[in-house]
Amino acid sequence: MTAAKCTGVTVAVRQAELPMLRAYRLWFEHTRKCADCKGVRKAQDGCQGGRELWAAYRIAYAGGDR
Ligand SMILES: [Zn+2]
Repeated sequence: MTAAKCTGVTVAVRQAELPMLRAYRLWFEHTRKCADCKGVRKAQDGCQGGRELWAAYRIAYAGGDR
């Protein structure tokens, strides 16, 4: 059970990453369903919905505390 010492730090990091990962997953799932976003190399080239999802991911990525 030596790993228990690190549990607090690990949980804190995972909680900080969750909004970012969730936002990324929402965008990723959108690109799989959306014909406009499916073939684009950059998220900015996708449809408005895809760009908004990507923007939300970028915001979550830049400031996890927001
Ligand atoms: Zn789209």
